[in-house]
This record gives sequence, C-alpha cells and structure tokens, in this order.
Amino acid sequence: MPADDALPPLRVPPLELPPLELPPLDELLAAAHVVSLPMRVKFRGILEREVMLLHGPVGWGEFGAFPEYANAEAARWLASAVEAGWHGFPEPLRTSIPVNATVPAVSADRVPEILARFGRVDAVKVKVAERGQTLDDDAARLAAVRSALPDAAIRVDANGGWEVRQAIEALTRLAAVGLEYAEQPVPTIEGLAEVRRQLRAAGTPVLIAADESVRKESDPLRVARAGAADLIVVKVAPLGGVRRALDIVAQAGLPAVVSSALDTSVGIRAGLALAAALPDLPYACGLGTVSLFQSDVTTDPLVADDGAIRLRDVHADAGLLEQFAASAERRVWWLDRLRRVHALLASH
Ligand SMILES: [Mg+2]
Repeated sequence: MPADDALPPLRVPPLELPPLELPPLDELLAAAHVVSLPMRVKFRGILEREVMLLHGPVGWGEFGAFPEYANAEAARWLASAVEAGWHGFPEPLRTSIPVNATVPAVSADRVPEILARFGRVDAVKVKVAERGQTLDDDAARLAAVRSALPDAAIRVDANGGWEVRQAIEALTRLAAVGLEYAEQPVPTIEGLAEVRRQLRAAGTPVLIAADESVRKESDPLRVARAGAADLIVVKVAPLGGVRRALDIVAQAGLPAVVSSALDTSVGIRAGLALAAALPDLPYACGLGTVSLFQSDVTTDPLVADDGAIRLRDVHADAGLLEQFAASAERRVWWLDRLRRVHALLASH
C-alpha cells in the first residue's frame, strides 16, 4: 500500500441516507415508457440504446441500466429515476455546467474535423490506449489537439487500456503537451495507486482520475483510501441518484467530474443536477454526450452551447416517445424488469 501524505484523511464517517420513498409498483408501471434510440456511432457494441423513462409527479426519470446488468445493480439506476420523477433534485448552486468536447481514437489528421463539430472548446477529452494503436498514434493525436487548441485543458482517457509500465511511459511522454489529468490509465485501483505514486516520484505533472474504478458506492472510498487518484469520475445513475452521489463525493473527499452513462437528455438532466449541487466543480463535466444519439426524447435536448450546458428541465415529447417506442416484446421485458427491481428496492 503506497504511503500518501497529500490526501486529506477521510473525515466523514460512512453516512446512511434515509431510504428513498418508493412509489407503489402500479404507479411506476403506469408511468413507464420504453424507447429504443438509434446511435450515431457504435458504443459499448450497440447501435440502439434502450431505456425506460418514468414520468413522475415532479418530472421525468431515466431507468437506463444496461440490459445485461443484474437486478442488484439495476436497483441503483431505478432509485435514481425515482428521485428524478418523484422527489426532485437538490437546490442548484450554479446554472451553467461546463462540459468537455471529446476526440475519439482517430488519426491525427482527422482531429481538426472532429473539433470543428464543437463550438468553443475550453476542455477536451482525448481517447488514448486504443487497442491496435501505438503510443506514437496517441502522441500525434495529442499534438494535433494541442496545436488546434493552444489554451484548452486536455485530459486523456485510456479506459484502463495500459499496464502500469506502459502507463508510466505513455503519460511521461504525453505530459509534454500539458495534461489536466489522465482518466483510468490502468484497470485496477492498486494499479492506479502505483502509476500515481511513480509519476509523482518522477515529478511528472499529470493528475490521475478514477473512472471505471468508481461504479459502486464503496468504490470512491476505496479509491481515496488507496491513494489511487487525485479526482474521481462519477455518474448519477450507477451511484443511485443525485443525493447519494453528493454524499459519496463528500465522503471520498476528492474533486469530482460528473459524467454520463449513455443517457438521453432525461438522464443528462440528473447529471447536471449533481454538477449544479456539488460544492466545488473544478473541472468541466463529461455530460455533452446527447450528440451521440441520432435522436433524443425531447425537442430541447441538453446539448452544450459555447462549452457549457444551461441548467433546465427536460420534458419528454409525446411524439418522439411514440416514434422511438421499443418493440412490444422489449417493452414487456422492461416492464418485467421494473417489477423485479422494484421488488428488490421495496425489500430493503
Ligand atoms: Mg472514462
């Protein structure tokens, strides 16, 4: 276990939030719409994103746990949807949320064309460590981004694609363009801690962010205790809602970057609510992802304008819900899942 003197001690004892008041199953079933939205690009191996939207008394909630997720994991996503539709969000502290642009693992010559799709860019995430590519490819892509955006904050995301030794070599080299932080350079919490320790020892100015290592409520605390990261990437739905995520971030005692989980604008609204309610928001958020969809469920999608998304409520549009309604068979599957997951939440 690496010693770490820079991390503040965990001051807050694990806090039990009161259980979320759960509407009766019949009410949720009556509030449910299932849609299948076409994606612009394949993501997680899919070209159609299925989600269940729940229209509650105070707004719309998104229950978008991926189909392969077991009930226990999906339960947190349902709790998040219920919070949005039946309880509402905490008071916002800000009304405009900065978001990053994203450059996929394209060749360097395509970087200008990708960046041209965004308006003003103050922060950009660049994918690295893509399978089948080399560190030279990453370095060339980064150099192209830096040349196009001399003043932007550049973060790289390896999605756990390196081993510790590769990560040290890569980040030592890529740091030359000036990096804000590196997201999940290696897969494990122990590996992150080792990469962070070695970079610090060498004086390499790259912060480490944990993303894939933060999926369960206990993970942010493990990350913090292990000295594995300087910041954490958090997503509302997998953590069980905005209030729970706020509590988890506070317990971890690390700066947070709010990100999305392939959400429609309804799910993005919850991410914005978290970003708006965090006491500190030092980094642009990864919430500019609605553009990955060919179509959204609202006529006023939560897309960035000049590098930020304006905080506003989302109303699903009846025509779009009908146009992108999932097949009868898939709707039955989702309603059945709602019954199972509701039963699990109700038993807690
Ligand atoms: Mg990431």
